[in-house]
Order: sequence, then C-alpha cells, then structure tokens
Amino acid sequence: MTGAIGIKGHCAHCDITFELKAWQLNAIAIEVPFDCPYCQRVLALNCPRQLRHFKALDHWALVRPGMVALTCVVLIVALVAEWLGLLSVLGQFNLSSLVVLVHFAVLRYARHQQRLTLNLQAVNPALPIKQLARIACARLGQQ
Ligand SMILES: [Zn+2]
Repeated sequence: MTGAIGIKGHCAHCDITFELKAWQLNAIAIEVPFDCPYCQRVLALNCPRQLRHFKALDHWALVRPGMVALTCVVLIVALVAEWLGLLSVLGQFNLSSLVVLVHFAVLRYARHQQRLTLNLQAVNPALPIKQLARIACARLGQQ
C-alpha cells in the first residue's frame, strides 16, 4: 500500500473525515473492522464498490513509474528517428509534445483516482468483550 497514502475515511457515526493511517488501510484491505479515532465506534467499509476501488489503488500506484518509462522511451525513439532522418524536426517536436501532454494527463487522472474518501459504517461487533466476559462469569458461577 505504498502508493495509497492520502486516502481519507469518513466515519458515518460521528461524521468526521480523517486521514487513514497505514495500519487502518491494511485493516480495510483485509476487511477487518477497526475503531474510529474520534468516537471509538467499530468501523468497516461495507460498500462493495468502494472496496473494489480501494483494492484497485495498488494498480494505480504503478501507473506513475510505468508512464515515466514509457515517456522516456518515446522521447528517445523520436530523437533517434529524427537523427536517422525518419522524422522531420517539426514531426519530432510534435510527437514529443504530444507524449509529454499525455504523460501529465494520465498522471493527473491517476492522482484523481487515488484521492479517495471511504465511507466507513459503524458495525456492531458480533459479541462485545464485556458481554463475553459476563457470559464467562455466568458459566463459571454455575459450575
Ligand atoms: Zn467516528
């Protein structure tokens, strides 16, 4: 989850939007509920669409290095083509400008995809610890 820092979470219970930390992102990734840092309610990402988007973020993190490599290759190829006489100076200039333009457009889109606010819903844990303790005490009392 190296490229996914900067994702925000919105607590449906206390209506606060906060920056998610790495361990919280990991908890969401493995679908384990975690406590809201403000209201201490147990939160989970219940929206399948957002969960899909969240899990696709790893792929978006690869877009940047991929685009840098691709752009460099195209720029070098265009220069060599011009040098070999396969491309005019204007053609080389047009191609290079186009590639740089596409490069920034793609990175902008990738950044937009990575800027995400997850709507976290408060969930009720199956059995709270207190309740489990009470059941255990009751059982011990019967013996
Ligand atoms: Zn909260």
